[in-house]
Amino acid sequence: MSLHEAMLYKKLEDKKVNCYLCARRCHINDGGSGFCLVRKNNDGTLFSLNYAKAISAGVDPVEKKPLAHFNPGALVMSIATVGCNFRCQFCDNWMISQEKGTAGNPLPPEEVVKAARDNDCQGISYTYTEPTIFFEYAYDTSKLAREVGFFNTFVTNGYMTPEAAKTIAPYLDAATVDFKGGGDPEFYKTFSAVPSVAPIFEALKELRRNNIHIEITNLIVPKSGDSLDRIKELAIWIRDGIGKDTPFHLLRFHPDYQLTSIPATPIETLEKAYMTAKEAGLNYVYIGNVPGHASENTYCPNCNEMLIKRYSFAITRWNLTKDMRCPVCGQCIPIKGTLHPSGHSLPYALF
Ligand code: SF4
Repeated sequence: MSLHEAMLYKKLEDKKVNCYLCARRCHINDGGSGFCLVRKNNDGTLFSLNYAKAISAGVDPVEKKPLAHFNPGALVMSIATVGCNFRCQFCDNWMISQEKGTAGNPLPPEEVVKAARDNDCQGISYTYTEPTIFFEYAYDTSKLAREVGFFNTFVTNGYMTPEAAKTIAPYLDAATVDFKGGGDPEFYKTFSAVPSVAPIFEALKELRRNNIHIEITNLIVPKSGDSLDRIKELAIWIRDGIGKDTPFHLLRFHPDYQLTSIPATPIETLEKAYMTAKEAGLNYVYIGNVPGHASENTYCPNCNEMLIKRYSFAITRWNLTKDMRCPVCGQCIPIKGTLHPSGHSLPYALF
């Protein structure tokens, strides 16, 4: 077992510790582990068991995160370890997120950065499982990555403490924050074993205060997580709390893991959700996991000109001026970074 002392915890009496990395804020007795099973109290010191143990590494277009308004076309080195602080019954990465051990290939931060360089990436993405629970690994890698000019992005369930958000913020450029079921607290309790959704909104505000580029997804699960009222409520919160230009991705559910009896989200449901979010005042709403759908594209919120045409993770037409404006009406389109016409759109795995 490799031991790396954890960040963001307090030592308590009787060799107990209090972890404040994620919103579960576990109190852990000597010899015990946190809910995520990858942080262990050993003689009153908390250790991260998954440090530099990558269970997955691969190259992805940034559009796969999804990030639609951040360095379009860029390639990212995506890494993950085992473990998660959620127990989503529909997780499409359950084989690694719900893994009980601490399996993984040794891949220290400097090797991640080297792999990013060797594979012509422009950034590094901490993804597939929850980066909050491999925080120390992501933190050290992010620092190194920044030093050599790479950007860093988190794909997260948002269930981190404000302390964690503040700590990673100096090195984090973008975050995709994934909601499920429109943020319905009952949905989270039933399907993800999450007691409260409030910390996700707190973390979002903290990321916003720190000027991190934010995109938000919402997985629409038929029947139990497809309420248009919830989607409207979430869209209004995003509009007022983060900004009406925040990209909002409505994702199609596919049956997986323990929820194989629920069918994929009907396209009609996704389209109704799209209209609901637009009517709530969000300027950039997307439908995800439906390759070829017209709502994969970016449209000008002022004149409706198509500005970026996409097919799945690929950009197939770029119709913005050099200074990121609509060529028809001159509307400024909020896109952070620059276009990276890499020519790659297919993800590939290193292991
Ligand atoms: S990261 Fe979260 S789940 Fe894991 S020990 Fe810390 S508070 Fe508990």
